[in-house]
Amino acid sequence: MKFQKLVEYFEHLDATTKRLEMFDILSGLFRESPAGEIDRIIYLSQGQLLPPFRGIEMGMSEKLLIRAISEATSTPTKTVEETFSRTGDLGAAAEKLITHRGSNLGVENVYNELMDIAITSGAGSVEKKIGFLSNLLKGSSSKEAKYIARFVLGRLRLGIGDPTVLEALALAAGDRALRPDLERAYNLCSDLGLVAKTLMQKGINGVRKFRIHAGYPVRMALCERLPSPEEIIARLGRTAVEAKYDGFRCQVHKDGEKIEIFSRNLERTTSMFPDIIKAARDCITPKKAIFEGEALAFNEATGELFPFQITIQRKRKHGIEESAKEYPLKFFAFELLYMDGIDYTEKPYLERREKLESVIKRNNVIEPSEMFITSDPKEIYKYFEAAIERGLEGVVAKRLDATYAAGARNFNWIKLKRSYRGELADSIDLCIVGYFRGKGSRARLGVGAVLGTVYEPETDTFRTVSKVGSGFSEKELAELRDTLDKIRIPHKHPRVESVIKADVWVEPHYVITVTADEITRSPSHTAGIDSDGIGYALRFPRAVGFLRHDKKPEDANTVKEVIEMFKQQKNVKVQA
Ligand code: ATP
Repeated sequence: MKFQKLVEYFEHLDATTKRLEMFDILSGLFRESPAGEIDRIIYLSQGQLLPPFRGIEMGMSEKLLIRAISEATSTPTKTVEETFSRTGDLGAAAEKLITHRGSNLGVENVYNELMDIAITSGAGSVEKKIGFLSNLLKGSSSKEAKYIARFVLGRLRLGIGDPTVLEALALAAGDRALRPDLERAYNLCSDLGLVAKTLMQKGINGVRKFRIHAGYPVRMALCERLPSPEEIIARLGRTAVEAKYDGFRCQVHKDGEKIEIFSRNLERTTSMFPDIIKAARDCITPKKAIFEGEALAFNEATGELFPFQITIQRKRKHGIEESAKEYPLKFFAFELLYMDGIDYTEKPYLERREKLESVIKRNNVIEPSEMFITSDPKEIYKYFEAAIERGLEGVVAKRLDATYAAGARNFNWIKLKRSYRGELADSIDLCIVGYFRGKGSRARLGVGAVLGTVYEPETDTFRTVSKVGSGFSEKELAELRDTLDKIRIPHKHPRVESVIKADVWVEPHYVITVTADEITRSPSHTAGIDSDGIGYALRFPRAVGFLRHDKKPEDANTVKEVIEMFKQQKNVKVQA
């Protein structure tokens, strides 16, 4: 496909404010894509070169891009900077300064050149990257340059989430009913490009033959919540109960000597955890295995587990060895997904657990998570209180006969966390879709509050529940403005449903965690809106922590969960 064609689709996607139109445009693009190129077309549309678990980053800053545009157009960098500051978008600046009307670029050329830029590293790489990019820009048309510039900065802003791609793929294949098959394959390999290419080359039967593989992260199973042990037992009967550890979720893939680790968000975090890699090599007996667990910093002398704020220190790209010494990790394994050719995701919990315990040789780093089986709510209360006392987050109850539900949040796993008087039983993750400039002292900072939404998977939309202004420091608000301005869009995103008008709309991209006093019904918000136009809203919301870089927009809590929490808040029984 000509790159120009892809750019035309990008322009349509950029301009639409309607969700259904977005599906139509995307499915039109997929229909027109050659089977051998559809994977790259999907990656590019999502602003990536490969799925995030491959760990490929462009490594381009504004400064480098300015130099590349300057070289490509023989314009002084100062002129590029001035054009940038007038438009606020380096894509628009590139479009203005690069004046060619047409080009001969194919999607494949552009993709390969971008890949060359991304993989160039080491001494002299900065100059090389600039050279490659300015060559690419030289050969591109003005419109193409706009999207190349945005892409290299990670600011394509099309906001095409994975569910949108799956829906559009099913539409392109001519049958929406194919979506569950596509989704299943995606849940097992986390690579939309691979799923699409298989669909185009081998048809839906090829997609149905997808199997779990070491090296391809499996989309993780997640928990529902209930407010009390009684309700958990009522729902699950005799159940397994595990400690809920508050650290990093790690999915470890062992393929002989090769070990990879993927985060909750399916990013490759292998290089961050040399201690887990070593332990997995020493303690996991099968040749090939995929297992999951939670890694937490702990005090080697006392065995005490540290809170998340300490564990987070281990999330870094430099000084890894030193930080591994300063904050050693403990890894509590809680799931076995695959072992030597056998897919354990299809086996019931008890069988997975027994196998997991039998293949771990305990050492100082790895051990199975704490677990017991009960049908007595009192036992859960007792364990829960003791767990909280030890600084754990609570418990996770797991249905004994349930398979591992890749990519799903359902009642096979139920979390019970501590709740505070006058607060919701749990925090809520919201996706930011816009912001308000604020009044008084806040106006000076540029952001007074953000518009927070929850996700509705059935319609693939983000629906507002709250304006959030409290809980941010002044420094954070200023940082928020800078960060959000980089993803601002001229109109409400097509996947956003809102009756409130934000001062500035942004692409659904960043997630924040908030707590609130309660959930109320409200005509101002669109989450769970009924035929009378009444939705749900958070009362007295406040942000805890800052942007959640570990969560994607679709990882925000869902409308269904908010409604569930609304129902549950009346009978909260577990209290501090
Ligand atoms: P939270 O912020 O509560 O962790 P979440 O949306 O990231 O929410 P949940 O589905 O609520 O995820 O809870 C599951 C998370 O709890 C897992 O992603 C994992 O990191 C963590 N966890 C800790 N201990 C366990 C355990 N024993 N079994 C399963 N998950 C556990």
